[in-house]
Amino acid sequence: MGAYLQTLWNTILEITEEDELQLYVVGPVLVFLLPYWTVGLLYLAIDITKKPACLYEYKIRDDKNGSSLSRSQIIRLIVVVLRNQLLSVPLSYLSYKAFELRGLMTHGSKLPTTFRVLIELAAFVAFEEIFFYYVHRLLHRKPFFKWFHKAHHEWHDPIGLSAIYCHPVEFSALVIFPVVAGPVICGSHLSVVYIWIFIATVNVVNSHCGYHFPGFPSNEAHDYHHFRGTENFGILGILDDIHNTRPTFKKSAWSSRDRVYYSLTPIKDACHVSKTG
Ligand SMILES: [Zn+2]
Ligand SMILES: [Zn+2]
Repeated sequence: MGAYLQTLWNTILEITEEDELQLYVVGPVLVFLLPYWTVGLLYLAIDITKKPACLYEYKIRDDKNGSSLSRSQIIRLIVVVLRNQLLSVPLSYLSYKAFELRGLMTHGSKLPTTFRVLIELAAFVAFEEIFFYYVHRLLHRKPFFKWFHKAHHEWHDPIGLSAIYCHPVEFSALVIFPVVAGPVICGSHLSVVYIWIFIATVNVVNSHCGYHFPGFPSNEAHDYHHFRGTENFGILGILDDIHNTRPTFKKSAWSSRDRVYYSLTPIKDACHVSKTG
């Protein structure tokens, strides 16, 4: 694995000829866009066709009453997502400048050790939780909710691609900032930043996809956040527990399903949830 990553990194350095704009601005945008659309479109195909049935049965909320996606809803979704992804280019440039100011920016061919990578990824998760939780709580307060966060909550029953369906201010402050903060604070090697952006992107799409598959990280907490329009402001749930900002969730069926499970039987069949929670 280490040798594979080393070869991959050497190839990236060769293709970009170590041009900093390509490495620090274009690279992170691509590592964000490619998995977002790949995973998001796969989920969208299941949402629209409701096939294959063996995957559709893992949808968290029953769709038997026919809440299907309209063409105009999907077009609007794609327009908003593309607008935000366009905004990710100047935001990536700003992040590059932040890395430069931090003074520890590095992209050399010598990759950090696996141990160092794991420690840094754990630190990024902690920083993301802190920044995401408090910014998200702020966005739920007046007048910020109406100004910035309401759009994201138009999706009461979110889908994978709606993960970054939001106002540009929210996109900058709640989607990009908490992800970039950790690497800038730690002064990480660029290869670790790429790995992190990839993980964070797949995770944000998964947390909105509406399916809870066996072996996948649980997305029940954020699904509940969209269902109720409140509670579960964090990603891990640690700060929600400290601040007691998910009391109703804890009594709900979503909470009893909020874990990784390994049975092929959909977890909702074991912990059934009513339409009202
Ligand atoms: Zn919210
Ligand atoms: Zn959301």
